[in-house]
Amino acid sequence: MDIPSLTIDQVRDGLRTRQFSSVELTSAALKFAREENPKTNAYLTFAEDRALEAAKSVDEKLARGEDPGPLAGVPVAVKDVIVTKGLRTTCGSRLLANFIPPYDATAIQRLEAAGGVILGKTNCDEFAMGSSNENSAFGPVRNPHALDRVPGGSSGGSAAAVAQGTAVVALGSDTGGSIRQPASFCGVVGVTPTYGRVSRYGLTAFASSLDHIGPLGRSVRDAALLLRVIAGRDPLDSTSAEAPVPDYLAHLNGDVKGLKLGLPREYLKDLTSETGNLIAGAVEKLKELGCEVRDISLPATDYAIDCYYVIATAEASSNLARYDGVRYTFRSSFSGTLSDMYRNTRGEGFGAECKRRIMLGTYVLSSGYYDAYYLKAQKVRALIARDFTKAFSEVDAIVAPVSPFPAFKIGEKIDDPMAMYLSDIYTITGDLAGIPCMSVPCGTTAEGLPVGMQILTRHFDETRMFRLADAFERAGGANG
Ligand code: GLN
Repeated sequence: MDIPSLTIDQVRDGLRTRQFSSVELTSAALKFAREENPKTNAYLTFAEDRALEAAKSVDEKLARGEDPGPLAGVPVAVKDVIVTKGLRTTCGSRLLANFIPPYDATAIQRLEAAGGVILGKTNCDEFAMGSSNENSAFGPVRNPHALDRVPGGSSGGSAAAVAQGTAVVALGSDTGGSIRQPASFCGVVGVTPTYGRVSRYGLTAFASSLDHIGPLGRSVRDAALLLRVIAGRDPLDSTSAEAPVPDYLAHLNGDVKGLKLGLPREYLKDLTSETGNLIAGAVEKLKELGCEVRDISLPATDYAIDCYYVIATAEASSNLARYDGVRYTFRSSFSGTLSDMYRNTRGEGFGAECKRRIMLGTYVLSSGYYDAYYLKAQKVRALIARDFTKAFSEVDAIVAPVSPFPAFKIGEKIDDPMAMYLSDIYTITGDLAGIPCMSVPCGTTAEGLPVGMQILTRHFDETRMFRLADAFERAGGANG
């Protein structure tokens, strides 16, 4: 078995034809992941016992002639902001370096019930705040395509693991681009589903009205299958939607003839020329496939970053209040008054980016500023959503770049938060509108750095998004 290139279909076939058992595959995958990990620092924790136990149960089901589930035996990596019962979940933070959650997230329960094998937990920016994975308390992740470059963030570990071949698929989380941007930088598929499509129960909260769990994979097919497994209403998350979950794979028929696509002009500013050329090549390819591409305008895009950094920091400042040194593991050793304990725990526990956001968020919510910032940002958010609704009355899907530039060097933007925030200029809008969006590999730069194309569709229309991405992937991307 060629572990780094395995697909879900190959795992299923291999198990069915008894080429390997699930325990054999899991042991080999764990060994490979452990050997490769020092190159990228993608995994923070390996889940040896849990993985082998899950694999054993798949083998037993197969031996009894039972259906072991759609993800049977598939090695999966999970971003370390998604809680796993009995398995350390750090959120990339010093504050949770020894935190062992008492329950599993709904997405975790569903993926294990479908036979998935969790190999371990992946590195990420602290509490998913970042675009480069350099904000982790456990060191940066390196991009498997160029080890001196970032993998993107905040789901950098998950994207790197899938690109490196140390997991077949992975779970990430996206609040402003954290699945699509690292997927683009690492040359894999990354999906941000419709808000409410996947339960957030057990996803550590960053900005609750924007947070999503979503899949990463080496193919559209694999990502779509993983989404199908984890999606659907969950009584434990009141924002999860009742909407039925279609069989996405049944719709991957390659037929995209006559599909009307919009190319938003606001997403073609601020691009590097190489990224621009690759997106132009992708658009040509989509036309060859029979799609009709037209220019559209999403005028409120210009305010997206400002709007996002008001709403996301406001929600984060509230969500992060729970890390007080009492309820979770880390507490400063400083002894003094109760407020000294809070202050010192939070001062020592949080990294610089989290502190920056707590301060910004507290400021925009404070009395006197609430209307000027928070309320205003909510109004702008409505305008951004309205732009999309209007666009989707004319086109079936929107295509765009994922990020203005490919993977940058480690250290290049770390001292310039505004430059860092620009990484997500094209992805933040999808989260603010709550629509499904994804990154599909589009080509590589002269230096060999991957670049992704973004596809966005109407609420709950993941089916069309996957069909278009799959047709594009089959045609070989922009370079095909
Ligand atoms: N890079 C953005 C931020 O830092 C998005 C992060 C995310 O999607 N989790 O907030």
